[in-house]
Amino acid sequence: MKNFLSIDQGTTSSRSIIFDANLNLVTDAQEEYDLTYPEDGWVELEPMKIIETVTNTLKKVVSADIGLEACGITNQRETTIVWSKSTGEAIYPGIVWQDRRTHEYCSYLKSNGHEPVIKEKTGLLLDPYFSATKIKWILDNVDGAREKASRGELLFGTVDSYLIYMLSKEKNHFTDVTNASRTLLFNIKSMEWDDELLELFEIPKTMMPKVLSCDGDFGNLKINDCEIPIRGVIGDQQAALVGQGCFNNGDMKSTYGTGCFLMVNTEEKPLNIDEGLLTTVAYQLGDKVHYAIEGSIYSSGTIIKWLRDKMKFFESAEDSEKYLNKKGNSNNVLFLPAFNGLGAPHWNSDIRGGFYGLTQDSSIEDMVTAAFHSISFQTKEITSILQEYDIQITNLSVDGGMVKNNAFCQLLADTLNKKIIQPKNVESTAIGACKVCMLASGLSIYGTKNDDVNVFTPNTELTETYDRTFNDWRSYVEKSLSSN
Ligand code: ADP
Repeated sequence: MKNFLSIDQGTTSSRSIIFDANLNLVTDAQEEYDLTYPEDGWVELEPMKIIETVTNTLKKVVSADIGLEACGITNQRETTIVWSKSTGEAIYPGIVWQDRRTHEYCSYLKSNGHEPVIKEKTGLLLDPYFSATKIKWILDNVDGAREKASRGELLFGTVDSYLIYMLSKEKNHFTDVTNASRTLLFNIKSMEWDDELLELFEIPKTMMPKVLSCDGDFGNLKINDCEIPIRGVIGDQQAALVGQGCFNNGDMKSTYGTGCFLMVNTEEKPLNIDEGLLTTVAYQLGDKVHYAIEGSIYSSGTIIKWLRDKMKFFESAEDSEKYLNKKGNSNNVLFLPAFNGLGAPHWNSDIRGGFYGLTQDSSIEDMVTAAFHSISFQTKEITSILQEYDIQITNLSVDGGMVKNNAFCQLLADTLNKKIIQPKNVESTAIGACKVCMLASGLSIYGTKNDDVNVFTPNTELTETYDRTFNDWRSYVEKSLSSN
């Protein structure tokens, strides 16, 4: 039996998972790591910690007798690393996708009228979330960086690229189309780095990795005396789309990890939606490019982590379920999920989080329930926009760390008034990367849709309550945005 390795480098942990050719899990290892928050709105990671945690997990699962045919990599997207071409050492910590430090620069570019061209070329908005302004910030703020970059001595990459550079035998400086499409520098129509955008953001082209299709030949991973061809690279949200078997027009998934990302496959059509949703590359397999519409929400599981680690309301993320009121009653407490601003559909970097409606009777249950509501209400804002564009939603396939929580899945069904499909194996991201490297190895994966699912059906008795709370929550968000 052939086996395949999936490396899943996420915002909270690194994982190595081995699947067989039927996508059954053979073995896996996981290691968490910490992000740092040096200033308000700043989020950083230590690039060597990424290499270390990935390597540690690889060492636990890879051995010569396990028979690995190929490897796929999936990763947190947009997170920006700039490193020395000669040593591989990062010249600054990785700037994480959630980081908002460049919002003033983005506003400046917006006020100079650059956003429409950027949206046209990249499908994205002018926002700190994407890599371009993070690269520029590093070049402008690290001593000597700009000079070194202009001499061709520095390289840029998202996490996939850094992993390939550091762990491939060939030291390849490569990335794939999905990660490239999140940089604000990649033209998603011509499928190449855009010279005009590189010039606008003052980034030398010599820093940019070579872009391959997701199923390209990325080199050979060397670990525990084994050499494994890297034959799949795909950003985490796109990987979840593939993992969930969303290959056709209108197929949709929503992933609830640190943030929440809803994505709809639009096949060959790069659809444009103006209300704060992004157009992005879903994947390229061989020559064929599929596009997607994406709703990106910054804060989802991170809210649960905050309630656990900072508020000390419960000891484990699983325990959060006990505090969620199943009838939708938060006693009028509302939560604004804006630790780092709000993403889709508002895209506001300045706003910060808060609770509203607290009284002396408010309890932990009310606050936790309000926090869960804010996660499902953010999804509802996006599904409402999609419906205005005639994208019909009957079911929503979900995955990510949070959807192990059945009460949360039921809440999604009740608030969205849609059937929620939860695969029994919620590791869609890792499965997606595995599917891509299986395809590249000549195996067929179409038809391997996750059939083993739980379905959560909306409780229509709660529709009125949730609709009312949703409207109250919307007003609270709008008021907070306008007073900001
Ligand atoms: P990422 O890929 O972004 O690192 P994961 O998909 O691994 O994230 O999901 C981890 C997130 O899910 C954490 O933020 C954690 O708080 C949240 N989480 C994990 N289990 C639960 C649970 N049972 N209920 C609610 N949230 C959970």
